Amino acid sequence: MLIQGSTQLLGVIGYPVEHSFSPLMHNAAIKYLNERNRAEGKCSGTGLDYVYLPFPIPPESLAIAIAGFAAVGLKGFNITIPHKQAIIPLLDEVSDVARAIGAVNTVWRREGKWCGTNTDAIGFSAPLKEMGRDWSQLPAMILGNGGAARAVVAACVQLGCPAVWVVGRSPDKLAEFGQSWSAAPEIAAKLSVVPWAQLADYLPQAGLVVNATPLGMHPHVADSPLSEAEIGQVGGGAIAYDLIYTPRPTQFLQAASAAGLTTIDGLEMLVQQGAAALEIWLQQPAPVEIMRQALLDYLGNATA
Ligand code: NAP
Repeated sequence: MLIQGSTQLLGVIGYPVEHSFSPLMHNAAIKYLNERNRAEGKCSGTGLDYVYLPFPIPPESLAIAIAGFAAVGLKGFNITIPHKQAIIPLLDEVSDVARAIGAVNTVWRREGKWCGTNTDAIGFSAPLKEMGRDWSQLPAMILGNGGAARAVVAACVQLGCPAVWVVGRSPDKLAEFGQSWSAAPEIAAKLSVVPWAQLADYLPQAGLVVNATPLGMHPHVADSPLSEAEIGQVGGGAIAYDLIYTPRPTQFLQAASAAGLTTIDGLEMLVQQGAAALEIWLQQPAPVEIMRQALLDYLGNATA
């Protein structure tokens, strides 16, 4: 990729940010679009002239970093932990979905203003929409009540699931989670919070069971949010969805597959949330296959 005087900046902010796969995925997409545009003669000179960089920004420097981004004309950026909530007051416009979720993962500059949204819900839904199920018949159970669970809740309501049960281990955090949707009454109307000890009561009716905890993530690959016996209680035809993408598959998905459930891992969500962000910045379709393959190559799992 040629970096020159006219190259525009995209990036991801976080602290730490070294673990992020976004630079890998986005720079592969930019390189591909650049070469394709040039080959098709759509652009003179260097084609699509962007680079996507990681920016480690400590929490106390967030405001000054955003002001600096405006000063240097950054085109847009992704946001990861710990800035997804803290960025909101620093933005001029925030989408309804990001307000409901309470977190922003994608920011862009428009007419001198910072605009933000959350593409995690789009990313989560993408592989489910491909399945063409009647979501109005499929209650969703979400294991975990952290940041990712919020995007999953919004996505499940948007898909049309008749009920969304969020299962958590901490009564206080669970109650807080349940009460935090006042800005989104359509979500609050379908949402119930369920203590972990009661999850077995709900398993037989669940049409979609989502792991939104880190249980099973590398290096704790033997962990699972549900035991094999619990997975065995999930109704036939249900979908088991794990947000984790290393390893592929997780213990949870291996057991779900053995129990005859349809399984989805977190890689496609990662790819699709990134593709949705790139489309906002570049105003053209993202090369999803290139982004997916860049991740698969890196994870050394191209056949999974
Ligand atoms: P988070 O904000 O830290 O939330 C983690 C949740 O898991 C919390 O509710 C936590 O409970 C719960 N939890 C942790 N250990 C548990 C245990 N032993 N038993 C029961 N519950 C437990 O993390 P997050 O950002 O939501 O991420 C959750 C997972 O999703 C991670 O594995 C992450 O890698 C993955 N993720 C994937 C994508 C993707 O694109 N595929 C995107 C985002 C996240 P407490 O609140 O009680 O501590």
